[in-house]
Amino acid sequence: MLPYKNYFQKLDQLKSGKLSLVENVNYFLNRIHQNNHLNAFNFVFEDDAIKQAEEIDAKIIRGKYGKLAGMVIAIKDVLSIKDKPNTCSSKILKDFTALYNATVIQKLIDEDAIIIGKTNCDEFAMGSSNENSAFGNVLNPIDNERVPGGSSGGSAAAVAAELCDTALGTDTGGSIRQPASFCGVYGLKPTYGRVSRFGLTAFASSFDSIGPFANNTEDTTAVLEVISGWDEHDSTSSKNIVPDFSNNLSFNGKKLRLGFAKEYFGDGISTEVKSEIEKIIEKLSKQGFEIEEIHLPHSEYTIATYYILTTAEASSNLARYDGARYGFRSNEGSSLIDMYKNSRSEGFGSEVKRRIMLGTYVLSAGYYDAYYRKAQKVRRLIKQDFDETFKKVDIILTPTSPTTAFKFGEKTTDPLEMYLSDIYTTSANLAGIPGINIPIAKDSNGLPIGLQLMANQFDEMNLLKMSYYIQENVL
Ligand code: GLN
Repeated sequence: MLPYKNYFQKLDQLKSGKLSLVENVNYFLNRIHQNNHLNAFNFVFEDDAIKQAEEIDAKIIRGKYGKLAGMVIAIKDVLSIKDKPNTCSSKILKDFTALYNATVIQKLIDEDAIIIGKTNCDEFAMGSSNENSAFGNVLNPIDNERVPGGSSGGSAAAVAAELCDTALGTDTGGSIRQPASFCGVYGLKPTYGRVSRFGLTAFASSFDSIGPFANNTEDTTAVLEVISGWDEHDSTSSKNIVPDFSNNLSFNGKKLRLGFAKEYFGDGISTEVKSEIEKIIEKLSKQGFEIEEIHLPHSEYTIATYYILTTAEASSNLARYDGARYGFRSNEGSSLIDMYKNSRSEGFGSEVKRRIMLGTYVLSAGYYDAYYRKAQKVRRLIKQDFDETFKKVDIILTPTSPTTAFKFGEKTTDPLEMYLSDIYTTSANLAGIPGINIPIAKDSNGLPIGLQLMANQFDEMNLLKMSYYIQENVL
């Protein structure tokens, strides 16, 4: 395939008749087959994708087509697509078919995007390495002995391996940004409420966000613009207007104020990650950006707070999988209670069970005040740290992850060690703010290093402008 800078250059080729959408879809389908070993997809919709390509090719010829005409997009297998499986990479939903389209899916279809399949992920989006999937591990395309990150590992791998133009993932504590960092692609978590969650299988409802993976800022922006906006089916979606992000990526004069927090460069960060981020900061400073050191004093509590609150929410959200209403039902046992117990014991994987138990514990009488209520208070303090910081700066720069992609099995025996790989990403979800991963460099093993930018709530515009600036002028 020609080296397109972004999807819109490809669209120009399509419009001029030099390339057809059917060719483009076939190109990706071939690559998906060639890269089957990556295990990035749970399902590929071959026939549907070709049929859609034919229809949209005809629309392009007629000159009337949607904003994402022909963009080939892969969808994390936690988002409902009508009449397609929605498994959440769990045995408990293995045979479940969605009854309606998630709002984000409907919006993509309305703008003529082509959905090529559903991507593998950690079960119910719980994980940082894609090692918790009932469909097996996803391999990192850059080094097959390493994890792609998680939980949206399949979506990140699919974009990195050029199996699609873009992909959707979900981010509850870093599941878009961290795999984007490990696979070397762009990945954006929007402000909580910017994108409707209707049709997303809930993990932790006050944290979950849906966002794009892409190879550049422009495609990331285009997808975000389409999927954003208020939705009557999601009462937590925001009525804030969605700016014309795509046409405003360039700076018009005033440079943004940037901040970096000492707390994000402490123990556990690899020296190579640290030095590459510092190089970017240095370059930006030479180019005239004001960069100041800021403080996020409650950073050390983010992991504990995140894992108390999200497991509490998960334990309630996952109560619905009881073998009675939908999904897997165990044949073992004779009473109703046995049926519930056995369906859940056999249907869920061990990480999901660990979280349900932890969440049930922190919500139970006697422990609620000590854990859940306290964590809610700390969440507020973390949010206040950001509120104060964004009075002084527009954008915060941090590493996305303390290390580059690790090897399979390296962290599976120690859940705490695994949870620490989310140390720089969970804070954005606790505070409800947007964040993006930008692939900036490779370490000495050739593994991608990611820079994270965070902005104030609903300030995706500045986040994208800065991402575009770095892409064009710094990298
Ligand atoms: N890795 C984090 C977790 O396991 C984040 C998951 C996510 O963002 N869905 O909870």
